[in-house]
Amino acid sequence: MRKTVLVCVWAIALTSIPAVCNAQIDTKWKIHDMDRPAPPVADPGTASTQDAPGRPPSDAVVLFDGKDLSSWVQKKDGGPAKWKVENGYFEVVQKTGDIQTREAFGDCQLHVEFAEPIPAKGESQDRGNSGVFLHGLYETQVLDSYQSKTYADGQAAAIYGQYPPLVNASRPPGQWQTYDIIFHGPRFDSSGKLMRPARETVFHNGVLVQDNVELSGPTAHGARPPYKPTPEKLPLALQDHGHPVHYRNIWIRELKSGE
Ligand code: MG
Repeated sequence: MRKTVLVCVWAIALTSIPAVCNAQIDTKWKIHDMDRPAPPVADPGTASTQDAPGRPPSDAVVLFDGKDLSSWVQKKDGGPAKWKVENGYFEVVQKTGDIQTREAFGDCQLHVEFAEPIPAKGESQDRGNSGVFLHGLYETQVLDSYQSKTYADGQAAAIYGQYPPLVNASRPPGQWQTYDIIFHGPRFDSSGKLMRPARETVFHNGVLVQDNVELSGPTAHGARPPYKPTPEKLPLALQDHGHPVHYRNIWIRELKSGE
């Protein structure tokens, strides 16, 4: 009897494997089908150096190219962004408030470069604090975490209050650093019920620091608020935490809905 059960379980396991493996494959096309449409061509651009920002991929929406903040507005009232542009970067102007993109974005690949203030000033959360807010709700922390201690789920590249980064890949203040983020936003049904939580992957200076983590809801200080129904596309925001953090070379590529 036990043997029969085991054989059945094994048979079910075996037969279910191909179904699972094929779940993502479009069966409309034969394997290696020469008629299958080729993916569009994207010029990958060039990598940034400490001296100069790289060139974004050809299919990216450029959100800051070193010249102006025309793609950004004040988050509070939609007025012109008040942060300072100079020498190919822009700087957080304290107490002017967060800024956000004019355009709304859904699931995406996002590239952001930032440099922490020099000389370094303050400790813990009071040291080069800013933030990249996907959908204006989910913060990937920007902080000077180079040889500086704070709580783990609030250091640079943390999903604030939820996930510390896998490693601290911070560069010294004054040096340009990169975040490359893959973000899949939450989905809600027509009644507002959560069907899929947000997920995020982050590379900090090219190092994997968040590996497809599942967000518990919007990020907040000292709280983990639950999800509330939101549109599939929302603006990207940057945080004014009162510190003159620099940003340059920001671009975004939207991913196909549902993937
Ligand atoms: Mg912050």
